[in-house]
Amino acid sequence: MVRRSRQDEPGSIRLKLLELLDSFGRELSGDDLRSKVRALIPSFHLLRDLGSSLIPSQDADSARDRILFYFRRYPLTVIEGDELMVVSGIGEWARRVRELRVQYGWSIVSGVAAREMNENDEFPVEGINVTEMGPDDYMLVDAVQDREAAFRWTVANEIRKKRLGVREKILEFLRSNVGKPVTGEELRYVAKDRTEWARRVRELRTEQGWPVVTKVSGRPDLPIGTYLLEQDRQSPPHDRFIPDPVRRSVLVRDGYSCRKCGWNHDKWNPADPRHLELHHVEHHAHGGSNEPENLISICTVCHDQIHAQGG
Ligand SMILES: [Zn+2]
Ligand SMILES: [Zn+2]
Repeated sequence: MVRRSRQDEPGSIRLKLLELLDSFGRELSGDDLRSKVRALIPSFHLLRDLGSSLIPSQDADSARDRILFYFRRYPLTVIEGDELMVVSGIGEWARRVRELRVQYGWSIVSGVAAREMNENDEFPVEGINVTEMGPDDYMLVDAVQDREAAFRWTVANEIRKKRLGVREKILEFLRSNVGKPVTGEELRYVAKDRTEWARRVRELRTEQGWPVVTKVSGRPDLPIGTYLLEQDRQSPPHDRFIPDPVRRSVLVRDGYSCRKCGWNHDKWNPADPRHLELHHVEHHAHGGSNEPENLISICTVCHDQIHAQGG
């Protein structure tokens, strides 16, 4: 059946729909199943038209634009897939959501990925119970479009196909994007949607000493749901095994600044790329404890000096 163009106002669509449903009463009393089914088709189309007419075409001209308009109207809000079905007026709304995320760089997180990040304490949205988000729920977590997303997607696709473990793939993707935030959804994609991805990212930080930071783990300025490899280097072996809760409390205690020279991320510049690491005052390998009292935040330059002096 040919789709009619959608030009009507919500009010007049509603009236047509009422008329159709009213006359459907006659069909219901008949015996022919097929004629009942066919009589309902125009009502389905009108209902879709009614949904998509809720967002005026001067604000959004396509199904994808209406979905985006709706997300941007309600950022940091759990949106059900059925709402997107209504405003888009199409059955394939989920594909449009994926395009917005992948090709257009809008940070739209699905309930599945949000829960996986939340299990690793990486999804702090106030007032939202992430554990109640379902697989067809979505949230726009950042109002700013990331224009490099399409390029990253190409890289992600190459790495995804390699015969590597989940952690190795994620590391390779992060190392292809040093200094640039990537999204949890991208890491999840690189990991071929394996639920372990969020735990593997945490292990890169807490076991292998890669400076993978997030809003709650080292860089409060980052948007929720993004991960960033600050530099392509691992912290010294004796400083690698530090649990996240300890790391967070030390960074907060030190005001996210180097305890030796006072450097913090506000002073970052490309000619002097540093980041903060944690250093055991008494070497962990020599029995120094993993307690906050034995740990200090230190910039990578000062950290290298300490270790060069055998400290
Ligand atoms: Zn320093
Ligand atoms: Zn150290």
